[in-house]
Amino acid sequence: MSNGIAKVVVDLALDREFDYRIPPALTDAVRVGSRVAVPFGRTRTQGYVVGLADSSPHAKLKEIAEVVGKKPLLSDKILELTRWMARYYCCRVEQAVRCALPEVVRKAQISWKERQFVKLGTVSPKDLAVLAKRAKAQARIIEALRANTEGMFVARLLEQTNASADAVKKLAAKGYIEVSDRTEERDPFGGEVFLPTEPLPLTAEQQLALDLCRAAIDNMEKPILIRGVTGSGKTEVYLQAIEHTLRQGKDSIVLVPEISLTPQTVERFRARFPHQQITVLHSHLSEGERHDQWHKVRDGQSHIVIGARSAVFAPVQALGLIVVDEEHENTYKQEDAPRYNARDIAVMRAKLEGAAVVLGSATPSLESFYNARCGRYSLATLGRRVDNKKMPIIRIIDMRQEAMRQKGTYVLSNRLRTAIEARLAKSEQTILFLNRRGYATHMFCLKCGYVAKCPNCSIALTYHRRAEELRCHLCGQVGPAPKVCPDPACRNPAIRYSGMGTEKVESAIQKTFPKARVQRMDSDMMTKKTLYREILGAFRVGKIDILIGTQMIAKGLHFPNVTLVGIIYADMALHLPDFRASERTFQLLVQVAGRAGRGDVEGEVIVQSFTPFHPAVRYAQQHDYVGFYDQEIEFRQELRYPPVTRMACLTIRSRSENKAQFTAMALAKELDKLLVDQHALMGGPTPAPLARIQGCYRFQIMLRTEQILRLTETLGKVLARFKAPEDVTVTVDIDPLSLL
Ligand code: ADP
Ligand code: ZN
Repeated sequence: MSNGIAKVVVDLALDREFDYRIPPALTDAVRVGSRVAVPFGRTRTQGYVVGLADSSPHAKLKEIAEVVGKKPLLSDKILELTRWMARYYCCRVEQAVRCALPEVVRKAQISWKERQFVKLGTVSPKDLAVLAKRAKAQARIIEALRANTEGMFVARLLEQTNASADAVKKLAAKGYIEVSDRTEERDPFGGEVFLPTEPLPLTAEQQLALDLCRAAIDNMEKPILIRGVTGSGKTEVYLQAIEHTLRQGKDSIVLVPEISLTPQTVERFRARFPHQQITVLHSHLSEGERHDQWHKVRDGQSHIVIGARSAVFAPVQALGLIVVDEEHENTYKQEDAPRYNARDIAVMRAKLEGAAVVLGSATPSLESFYNARCGRYSLATLGRRVDNKKMPIIRIIDMRQEAMRQKGTYVLSNRLRTAIEARLAKSEQTILFLNRRGYATHMFCLKCGYVAKCPNCSIALTYHRRAEELRCHLCGQVGPAPKVCPDPACRNPAIRYSGMGTEKVESAIQKTFPKARVQRMDSDMMTKKTLYREILGAFRVGKIDILIGTQMIAKGLHFPNVTLVGIIYADMALHLPDFRASERTFQLLVQVAGRAGRGDVEGEVIVQSFTPFHPAVRYAQQHDYVGFYDQEIEFRQELRYPPVTRMACLTIRSRSENKAQFTAMALAKELDKLLVDQHALMGGPTPAPLARIQGCYRFQIMLRTEQILRLTETLGKVLARFKAPEDVTVTVDIDPLSLL
């Protein structure tokens, strides 16, 4: 390839790319991922190559001065992966490269932390005796270093001996000690200790799953899907698969939906493997920690990486295994361009690097189970809880009848109320689940019909009672809750609220059970980053009787003393205009129900529903994933929805409704011409279900096809030459998860 031009992101002007000419002498050395020194204005700066090109629209380019460092930051395989991403997700390679490299590594403003380190030099007993008399602090330093023959960081030494930096200087001058600079790793887990655990003897089902994994690690095989009910021991299978990978001298990556929401899972990995082997990447790392952890992995000093979405790009040296836990989770999908799904990237990366990939879930996405049914994935099933513990009993309460019996609010059915009472009497714990924050979803005026809506978005504002505020859950707009109807012509003081959120459940529970210790947990409360762990800690040791929360509490938590789970309003997501509404509801019900009865006492789940005969509710009650899948896939087949087809969603946004609509129509026309021979179905353009967000009008074009690669190729071409008016943006989402 004759690449004469390099696209460089320079440290002085971040988030913009500049074109530089590659001098002939550097042709071989400059690659995507190289650190380079370049002239910039009147100075010289360092930058990083994000792309190569044959030509540039700019005249008079400056030349790259030199390549810094030997190794480019991206391996050939990761580069290949980013190229695939660019094609598949219709984005620029640079955007894909940005995903693959954490910002702190890309910009290279932070480096290893160098600190002064001392070792003992030569000190005779006579010297020491002299010091002991005349310079006691210096003598203490020598003693400390004798006890630590490896040497110590100066800061630590001074702290321990209560000596001054001056004492160190004097000792160094006499040659009694040697001072040098040494890298200190910023270790986010510093002093934390985990009780080591041993591999458990596996059940027959687990053994079969592990055998599949081992075969795939040893010789590349198909991706593996482990469908295992909650508590069936999937994590133990992952742990032993990783152990096998380590023994082959290879590295593993474990993806979890969100590190802070799965502390117990992470702890189990840390307890099984030695501290040095494991790197945990998460969003609360400081820049310095992130830098050190990334380089530690790339330098081959760590062989197991655990992290959320972006850890799929972890620069491990010899990839042997990628585990994607809770593979159905939406958090694997990135919301901004490039809108990749880490689960799918994992499958692709494993393929490119000849590694095994294991997807696990109690409720696999329809996509993955469909792949297993079609034979593209191998399937392992863990149908029983370990030790044959029973699955919790799920009772469904028909809230339509309950609503007739009770007047006013129906947060709690009689059944759920008495069930909670019984748990309180026995000192057992309860989890109550409602996937909506705030107190009430609507504020309205009884007299004039006024409803408080967000001025920027097409949704109603949510009432938060504790803060006495109205908040928009889309754009974050906040304002005080009015005391009278804000309509100047009305001013009626009888303002009402309807629709409930977790805050309302909390206050209803407190009223019903004044003596119970109640705690709410949702993102409104999580202003402090340690609060989550604190609350879960308190819950674990029994300081909380009833925990109320959103989907934050639906994920991999494991509390033996929880014997009751109440789902306040099961149908909440069922009526969203989204073909996955039923799948989501089923997944959520099964996952939340899985939190009950993880200990010795059998668990009970009470599901309150206004559509108690909906298949998503009924199959969840029976713990029947396959039954749910079979009837749901039929519906998808009939309507040609994913996973039977693949989907792409174009969103056209503008502050001007007319411009957005006009652009959407022009784009649709363009596509229509090209897609005739592709058997692609086009829907729209139509206003998006959330027609306005943050002041922007949104239109959508939905495309469905059986040949996704042909479609993305066409899309890529069309979007590259399609000129949208200045204040209109067009975004593309391949395999979209949210259609709102
Ligand atoms: P999952 O990940 O499928 O929800 P876990 O791996 O968390 O299930 O297993 C549930 C519990 O059973 C854990 O406490 C785990 O330590 C235990 N466990 C898993 N496998 C075994 C086994 N083979 N023998 C005994 N206990 C096991
Ligand atoms: Zn808003």
